[in-house]
Amino acid sequence: MTSMYDEANPSMLAAIANQTVERHRQTPGENGYAPGACAQCTPTGCTELDWARRTLDAYRADRAAQLAATPSW
Ligand SMILES: [Zn+2]
Repeated sequence: MTSMYDEANPSMLAAIANQTVERHRQTPGENGYAPGACAQCTPTGCTELDWARRTLDAYRADRAAQLAATPSW
């Protein structure tokens, strides 16, 4: 999927994705799905939320890989 966010830097993308996930929580602190949280929401799911979760997963995996590759002095 192509998105207008593709050109942004990774930490900005992660911040946007995190806000999107937070906005879709039914209850603060829980991983629920609240339909109608944004314009892309349907009763069964949300493409925006899917994008946000994929982006956050990729960002965290990337960060973990960077940390693992950094020697600890
Ligand atoms: Zn949504």
